[in-house]
Order: sequence, then structure tokens, then C-alpha cells
Amino acid sequence: MHPDCERILISEGEIRARVVEIGRRISSDYAGKELLMIGILKGAMIFLADLVREITVPTQYDFMAVSSYGASSKSSGEVRILKDLEYGVEGRHIIIVEDIVDTGLTLNYLAENLKSRDPASVKICTLLDKPSRRVEPVEIDYNGFVIPDEFVVGYGLDYSDRYRNFPCIMVLSPKVYMNEGE
Ligand code: 5GP
Repeated sequence: MHPDCERILISEGEIRARVVEIGRRISSDYAGKELLMIGILKGAMIFLADLVREITVPTQYDFMAVSSYGASSKSSGEVRILKDLEYGVEGRHIIIVEDIVDTGLTLNYLAENLKSRDPASVKICTLLDKPSRRVEPVEIDYNGFVIPDEFVVGYGLDYSDRYRNFPCIMVLSPKVYMNEGE
């Protein structure tokens, strides 16, 4: 295990098994339909890459990037689109794929924004759900794991853009935050 991490929260094998299960459920829910998966950069990239390979219905994927100022800044957690979709979503069945839902502000904004573009349907899929910190309710259609209020990294999730390449989900050691701004 990496010295910056306190413990493994979800192993590579557990993630793998859950991704297969979610892929099966999505494939069955969307039987006879075509799907557009929208990955939120950069955190959801690894989850999306594994998930799409478990889906058996015709599937395309695209990416969006947003910058979130979080719950503490201003009233409604301002979210800015840094990179928009390549194609329109009108009339498409879309699934937004996130790494983690924390306050819910990012996903609420994204879901509302995408709904206003007249897709046929919008669902939300996240690898991790941290419900204890929710500020705005989010209806999650596909969830990998509910986790406690701890800061996690790995499998796409970062701290200062590091640790994304870890194959499992780990709890970051507090000593890493203490060195913040060194
Ligand atoms: P929210 O749901 O608060 O709008 O924001 C979700 C975003 O906050 C995620 O996409 C992720 O970038 C970041 N985030 C929230 N909790 C964690 C965590 O435990 N670890 C990491 N690496 N990012 C987190």
C-alpha cells in the first residue's frame, strides 16, 4: 500500500465485481435502446472505461469537464462547464457517469443542465456515494458503493491530481492534507 494512504476501503476485486453487476443491470434496463454514457472528467474516466466494456447494448460515450466551487463557496455551489459534449443529446438516452457524489451540487447542476437539452431520458450512475455530506438530494439510479465521510483516492479519484492510477479505493492519510500548501 502507498505510504500516503491509511487503508484500503474497496479492493480491486470488489470494484471489478460491482462494475460487472452494474454493467449487467444497465444492459438489461436499456435492452432494445441505444445509450449515450457521459463521463465527468477526470475522476470518472477509469470507471467509465471499465463500465462500458460490460455493457452489451449499443453504447457511445462522451465527456464533460466541470469545475465545482463546492458547498462552502456561496449559496448554491457554483459549477462551471470547462468542456462540453461533442454532440447534442436531444432524443438520446443518457447516463451521467460520476466518480463520487458528495454534496450533490455538481450532479444536480449537470442533471438539470442536460435535461434542458431535451434528451429522451437521463439517469445517474456513480461509483461512490457519500450520503452523509449531501446538501442537495440526488436521485442515483446506479451506485457502486456507499462510503463513510472520509476522503478517498484511487481508481480515478485524486488529491492534487495524484493517486488516480491506484487500482483500488483508499482512504488518504490526514498527514497529506497537513502538508497542503507546502
Ligand atoms: P459534489 O457532489 O460535492 O458536488 O462533488 C463531487 C466531486 O467532489 C467529485 O466529483 C470529486 O471530484 C470531489 N470529491 C468529493 N469527495 C471526494 C473524495 O472523497 N475524494 C476525492 N478524490 N474527491 C472527492
